[in-house]
Amino acid sequence: DSMNYQQGLITEDHCPLTVPVRFQPLTDTYLVDPRPFARGKFATVRRCKHKETGVDYAAKCIRKRRRAADVRHEIMHEIFILKLSENSPRIIRLYEVYETSTEVILVLEMAAGGELQRVLEDHEEISEKEAARIMRQILEGVAFLHERNIAHLDIKPQNLLLTNTFPTCDIKLCDFGISRLISKGIELREILGTPDYVSPEILHYEPISLATDMWSIGVLAYVLLSGHTPFGGETKQETFWNVTSGTLEFPEDLFGGVSKDAKDFIQSLLIMEPNERMTAKECLHHSWIKSFCDKEDPQRDIPNIRLSTTNEFNAEVSVVSVEVA
Ligand code: ADP
Ligand code: MG
Repeated sequence: DSMNYQQGLITEDHCPLTVPVRFQPLTDTYLVDPRPFARGKFATVRRCKHKETGVDYAAKCIRKRRRAADVRHEIMHEIFILKLSENSPRIIRLYEVYETSTEVILVLEMAAGGELQRVLEDHEEISEKEAARIMRQILEGVAFLHERNIAHLDIKPQNLLLTNTFPTCDIKLCDFGISRLISKGIELREILGTPDYVSPEILHYEPISLATDMWSIGVLAYVLLSGHTPFGGETKQETFWNVTSGTLEFPEDLFGGVSKDAKDFIQSLLIMEPNERMTAKECLHHSWIKSFCDKEDPQRDIPNIRLSTTNEFNAEVSVVSVEVA
């Protein structure tokens, strides 16, 4: 457990929740599509329909062994984060967990609108108003996580899901596969993420922090407003070079019609020094987000579950059993 803690992984020790794991076959309760509709590196995602209610869910089936190593504890970490986030309307909801001899299966709320990536591919242009609304919802999700000292570390259009077809939809964060708990006094250094969205500190093998996500948020805003990535090169190597070079440009042909406020927003995030970047809360108060968004869907009151971020292994942990609805 101490090992996990050093690596920023949540264990039962600092999560006051227990998640029931079911060992009966998923097919007892759900009609499961044989073909996955999406696939990641270690997971396949299948549509499944609850036999009694007829409601559709997304079953994320994750292999427990990768490269001959047991990673069940990493999957449990992902489950704990989803469980801790169940009261945030901006984070995909986890309903049930199943386990087989080879896989752990997360039964998730189905995001019927698919990935934000699809919207970028299908639309030549997204209005600034739409972009600001999307960014605001993402920032609400990220602010929720950051209040709990969780860094997502893989914010990109493939991990942002739409509840419905664009633009009459809400956005939810998914994929906590490489997220980490950021603790005081523990330095996390790892190489992870996706080239176009990765921050300079990750590439420099410097400590990871909540600000690491804010860099990705800056890249995302740039992409939504221009349809182009700010640092994308011909090769991975070239992209890494561009990220660490510290040059950010807003070419006139891409940003001619974009407001000064929007460019200022991006510029206040794509800063080499992590501590100088805006926080998620500050972003929500930035004039670009404020002026382009209607007053709409105020967030519900969210009960707080706080994680221990100090090294208190022997502290008493109140284990509250919560039935997954
Ligand atoms: P990985 O760790 O393999 O990237 P993800 O959680 O990102 O796993 O899932 C892979 C893909 O599956 C996502 O990019 C998305 O397209 C799809 N997906 C995952 N969860 C859902 C969901 N709840 N609703 C709809 N699509 C989903
Ligand atoms: Mg993913």
